[in-house]
Amino acid sequence: MMNYKSTRNNDVTVSASVAISRGISEDGGLFVPETMPWLSYTDLQILTDSDYVARANDILSRFLGDFTPGEVLDCVSRAYTREKFETESIAPLYELNPGVYLLELWHGPTCAFKDMALQLLPHLLSVSTKKANPGKTVVILVATSGDTGKAALEGFRDVPGTRILVFYPEQGVSPMQKMQMLTQEGENVFVSAIHGNFDDAQAGVKAVFTDAAVKEKLAAHNMVFSSANSINWGRLVPQIVYYVSSYCDLIKNNRISAGEHINIVVPTGNFGNILAAYYAKKMGIPINKLICASNANNVLTEFLQTGIYDRNRPFYTTISPSMDILISSNLERLLYDLSACDDGRVRGYMDSLSKTGRYEVDDSIKKSIAEHFWAGYCDDAGTRATIKDVYERNACVSDPHTAVALNVYQQYREKSGDETKTIIASTASPYKFAGDVVNAIRGEQPTQTDQRVLVEELSKLMLSKPPKQIAALFQKPVRFQGVCDAEAMQDTIFAALDLA
Ligand SMILES: *Cc1c(COP(=O)(O)O)cnc(C)c1O
Repeated sequence: MMNYKSTRNNDVTVSASVAISRGISEDGGLFVPETMPWLSYTDLQILTDSDYVARANDILSRFLGDFTPGEVLDCVSRAYTREKFETESIAPLYELNPGVYLLELWHGPTCAFKDMALQLLPHLLSVSTKKANPGKTVVILVATSGDTGKAALEGFRDVPGTRILVFYPEQGVSPMQKMQMLTQEGENVFVSAIHGNFDDAQAGVKAVFTDAAVKEKLAAHNMVFSSANSINWGRLVPQIVYYVSSYCDLIKNNRISAGEHINIVVPTGNFGNILAAYYAKKMGIPINKLICASNANNVLTEFLQTGIYDRNRPFYTTISPSMDILISSNLERLLYDLSACDDGRVRGYMDSLSKTGRYEVDDSIKKSIAEHFWAGYCDDAGTRATIKDVYERNACVSDPHTAVALNVYQQYREKSGDETKTIIASTASPYKFAGDVVNAIRGEQPTQTDQRVLVEELSKLMLSKPPKQIAALFQKPVRFQGVCDAEAMQDTIFAALDLA
């Protein structure tokens, strides 16, 4: 049976359901599969002839050791429906140029790629809780800077046996993201702003999460906390599926022959999405280079180029906010893998990171990184120029995160001359960042701030209607108007859960 180990202690072995319901190992390490399933040539042929749900079912079954076949199929069939994703293929490929394809991961309910995992995670968590904590209601606490909170709310909304509470910084999210959260529907959801920034929200959530008295009070009411952030294996494994699936689609559409190598470019923040592509490679998908694209917060670019991770640097707020991050948690899983599961070495690096904000990996890891990865970054000016350029040349409108990936891919092509066919992960709908996208294409400073007008302008540029979930936002009533102090979060949570 497929079990999981902790990146910081090889003696820990847990089942898939325990890994998913705990989220993180008690030693602070992240859960990783003990072995990587291997996709044979025949497996790939079968997957190529399947639809997205069947592909997801096949791949997830290989990882979820203690789930029954019926449980896995039930989870994926509920997550990837035509009702929730506006396209039959769930994650379609768009041919930008011959040999260059955008993998559109934003056709879900919240228009960002986090839906791909957060539509499935609640179901995985429900099944896992039934096995690991039978009879308990799972309470999900989220501190968000925008995309994750909304995607988690949509994913957990009305899922039996779960409650979800989201806290966001009052001044720290985009107008569209705020509107998305305040109008959230569902009987088991709660949203509150907090006075302060994202770090205050995060610290507040962490304090409640680890408070023994709170835990006891919840237990007395048959409740247990869990986490929906991207260190949870249940968020990573659904992301492997779309890389395998996109490779199958290239075969199916006669764009590549089975076995042909491709490159994959990923706009990266917490290193979750690109790590999923790395795992797809380990499962046998023929991937040549994984190209890691960062914005001005280029800590990963430097690390992948030099082997030195150093978070002691300025933090920039950019127009690709979901990549504004200086500690990429999922990198720990890569270090574990590239050090041949050396838990001691990983512990050493992570200790050094928490004490000094810096570590340097050894030469063998540097060598493996160079073999698999290429890294680059661009700032906001470069991002804007790419949005404009791709619009003018390809009549394609990209959101700022995807534009970072397009920019870095261009750099890679120029430096390497590598013409291998390439998939670029497209992680958000331009409509989610309408203002920045419209201004970049027009080459103007922002003048308009009315979201409805900006969405209409973007719609004219794109010659398409806005997604119905964006258009509908302007009609929905606001349900959550509360703001609390970070210190008062605990009382807010008790009140929301009717435990006050
Ligand atoms: C979260 C996010 C990213 C970064 O993904 P990671 O898995 O954190 O590397 C990129 N683009 C968008 C739109 C996102 O929401």
